[in-house]
Amino acid sequence: PEPATQKPGLLGRILRRGETKTVVRRVLDDDMLESLEELMIASDMGVDTALRISANIAEGRLGKKMSVEEIKGALSTEIARVMEPVAKPLPLYQKRPQVVLVVGVNGAGKTTTIGKLASQFRAAGKSVVIAAGDTFRAAAVEQLQVWGDRAGVPVLTAPEGSDPASLAFDALTKARDEGADLLMIDTAGRLQNRQDLMEELAKIVRVIKKIDPDAPHNTLLVLDATTGQNALNQVDTFQKLADVSGLVMTKLDGTAKGGVLVALADKFGLPIHAIGVGEQIDDLAPFDPQDFARALTG
Ligand code: GDP
Repeated sequence: PEPATQKPGLLGRILRRGETKTVVRRVLDDDMLESLEELMIASDMGVDTALRISANIAEGRLGKKMSVEEIKGALSTEIARVMEPVAKPLPLYQKRPQVVLVVGVNGAGKTTTIGKLASQFRAAGKSVVIAAGDTFRAAAVEQLQVWGDRAGVPVLTAPEGSDPASLAFDALTKARDEGADLLMIDTAGRLQNRQDLMEELAKIVRVIKKIDPDAPHNTLLVLDATTGQNALNQVDTFQKLADVSGLVMTKLDGTAKGGVLVALADKFGLPIHAIGVGEQIDDLAPFDPQDFARALTG
């Protein structure tokens, strides 16, 4: 066996530098697994998830000689296995109009995601209405209008400070009367006053149910993948505030590899409907567990 001091270097190559050419084979032992666990935890995958993935990798392989490529392959396969059950496109066209409530903290990418989704639906020949439900932030409303223009979709607004529930009611009435396929309702993202936000979201839901008892058909939580472990807290919080049915993970372009997605999938099992991969209108992609696992394993 090689000296123990070489171990972190090898694992560094496995996961960090992506030097995949090495033909070095070494025994998959407890030390190696422990280093893998540390790397997984350091990349925000969470302790429980890391330990379970490590146990799965060990199964049938402990004590065997493996190359770097083989270890990477095993790791990637195990990560993909955790992610496969949550990779689900947004379930569409179950209802007309389908009502999608979009929640998340300010800056997570709600506005951008709504714009991107609207554009995709328009491209598919569907009619879309957007309700600018963050009525307390004039800038948010303006930004949403910009995205609506880009996507060619009407954005319903209400005077600053007015009741978002009443706007949502009007928007659903309009969407229904016009035979729209999809209504997306933006919401406020200020977590500073949780009680307020909870009541606001509850009221929106209560009011739109007067028109369609099944609405909202989806409650999308938009999360910034670069916030690491913080994303876990946000899911916890928003699950208390709303009936979250699925996630959109933004900002998976750039340097963020999004290890936290693995922890999220493992802990909450919520569907990941799409990922944001840039700031442009077309930068929304389906979530592909294999691609994701390969990128994460590097
Ligand atoms: P909101 O406050 O939740 O509505 O967030 P915004 O939609 O305004 O987005 C906040 C910032 O994140 C903006 O600068 C967006 O351009 C940026 N953003 C949103 N989604 C993505 C993404 O997938 N990738 C990148 N790189 N930036 C994004």
